[in-house]
Amino acid sequence: MADNVYVSNTINLAKYMKLEQKGKVLAEYIWIDGTNGLRNKTKTLNKKPESVDDLPEWNFDGSSTEQAPGDNSDVYIRPVALYPDPIRLGDNVLVMCETWDPDGTPNKSNFRHDAARLMEANAQHQIWFGLEQEYTLLGPDGWPYGWPKGGFPAPQGPYYCGVGTGRVFCRDIVEAHHKACMYAGIEISGTNAEVMPGQWEYQVGPCEGIALGDQLWVSRWLLHRIGEEFGAKVSFQPKPVPGDWNGAGLHTNVSSKEMREEGGMKHIEAAMKKLEGRHVDHMKVYGEGNEARMTGGHETSSIDKFSWGVANRGSSVRIPRQCAKDGKGYFEDRRPASNGDPYSITGIIVETMYGAISPSEK
Ligand code: ADP
Ligand code: MN
Ligand code: MN
Ligand code: MN
Repeated sequence: MADNVYVSNTINLAKYMKLEQKGKVLAEYIWIDGTNGLRNKTKTLNKKPESVDDLPEWNFDGSSTEQAPGDNSDVYIRPVALYPDPIRLGDNVLVMCETWDPDGTPNKSNFRHDAARLMEANAQHQIWFGLEQEYTLLGPDGWPYGWPKGGFPAPQGPYYCGVGTGRVFCRDIVEAHHKACMYAGIEISGTNAEVMPGQWEYQVGPCEGIALGDQLWVSRWLLHRIGEEFGAKVSFQPKPVPGDWNGAGLHTNVSSKEMREEGGMKHIEAAMKKLEGRHVDHMKVYGEGNEARMTGGHETSSIDKFSWGVANRGSSVRIPRQCAKDGKGYFEDRRPASNGDPYSITGIIVETMYGAISPSEK
């Protein structure tokens, strides 16, 4: 490990953050790269944008992000969602973008485009998603916070929803992130310490349609960005440490208008039948390295077989007890891994429930 790791000196920085911007606004353009990671760059604007229509398309060098060859490297970023910036404050904004190739087709890493078309085509079902994002905070050396150097902490038990020194680690980052998401207008619905020391969860949602993917990606960006200030690394790996520890998931809670209404359970059961038929296709887009997490132990189901049940945390899909009692509500797909792409996950769920749409012209 390099011992010259740089941690933000927020006290020195504060003086500059307060400087007058002379009417200009900073827009942080954020996009997803060719490795399921996040990138960003800053644009100075002459005035505050009111909507994404006020934001210019921009571009970057895709050969540096595994998104384009060196001899044809320009990739375009098109703004699709706009949020107040909790880091810079004022009129400054965060801008979520889609990536497009120069020939006018979506970049190979642009999974949002087709997901958005699926959401649009099924808008009448008013589909809500609530995702539970689990993650692990690591020191600059890549070892989880709260773990003895090169060793292991006491077995899991006291950490989940824990309080107190030695039980939870890095709560400052978690608090900062929760507030930052709220400021940005992200529908963050909660936060809790997880089963493994250094592991946490937050939930985004319910959000309708494509807004969930946009908000979840921006919430991940904020977590990385805040982590910089504390010198912490954020890991979205589904099994960050091998051994007798829970992995990290991205439980995906889903409901349609019909499922939320009286008698909705029959729509949930119909969805279960459809999900069962496409288990293998779903697992393909539910995150890389998920096989290390989905062992059938540690509150997961078998990776090979679809199952569902009321209040069962060992099945692929859980129907919450309260929903079974009410005869309506939502279901929880527990299969997605913490590093899964929310556009692909919510997209394939809608496709499986309501059918494919014609491919976009390429
Ligand atoms: P768990 O008991 O599995 O830990 P959480 O409370 O962490 O559940 O997360 C539940 C998620 O489900 C939240 O993001 C919440 O917003 C979302 N949710 C609640 N109701 C619905 C619904 N009707 N449709 C979709 N998502 C929902
Ligand atoms: Mn949860
Ligand atoms: Mn959890
Ligand atoms: Mn859950």
